[in-house]
Amino acid sequence: MGGTIGVESVSGTGSRFWIELSRMNAPQLVASDEPLGLTAQQTSNQVRTLLYVEDNPANLMLVEDLIARRPDIRLLSARDGTLGIKLAMKVVPDMILMDINLPGINGVKVLEILAKDPTTSHIPVVALSANAMPRDIEKGLEAGFFRYLTKPIRVNEFMDTLDLTLQVAQARAASGKRIKPVHGSKE
Ligand code: MN
Repeated sequence: MGGTIGVESVSGTGSRFWIELSRMNAPQLVASDEPLGLTAQQTSNQVRTLLYVEDNPANLMLVEDLIARRPDIRLLSARDGTLGIKLAMKVVPDMILMDINLPGINGVKVLEILAKDPTTSHIPVVALSANAMPRDIEKGLEAGFFRYLTKPIRVNEFMDTLDLTLQVAQARAASGKRIKPVHGSKE
């Protein structure tokens, strides 16, 4: 199942067994009763571009459904890292949403390549991954992801992160400066 298992044992004290399993790659969406209210951005005419690099069609459909509620965001997608890099260089989106487990180049490597290229280095990249262990998140933020979201997608957190990331992208564009990612994706 691609997981790991281990044991730590102290003589006379006891043993600690642990097991780590990858979450299913199946699409999961936590239902939310809260209405997705109009935001200030939806009242402006400015359309922002979001590139989503994701190999799982079901996850892509979920994000398409969420973005469909946001006429101020145009969604582009790439099904692997190589295509994602090509599209990012060509289109220069306002933000990128990145799966980690991708065929070929993984999402962390894609991030590194984008961060090294002056065409794309300013674009905030948000990880969206089923790898939800605390150290996965820590490693992701250290690698330079602006935020690290885990699957299943939580609608409100997802939308808030989109808004925050687009605001930061706009601030970067206005100031021409690179703003350091803020560590810690969870309160
Ligand atoms: Mn994947």
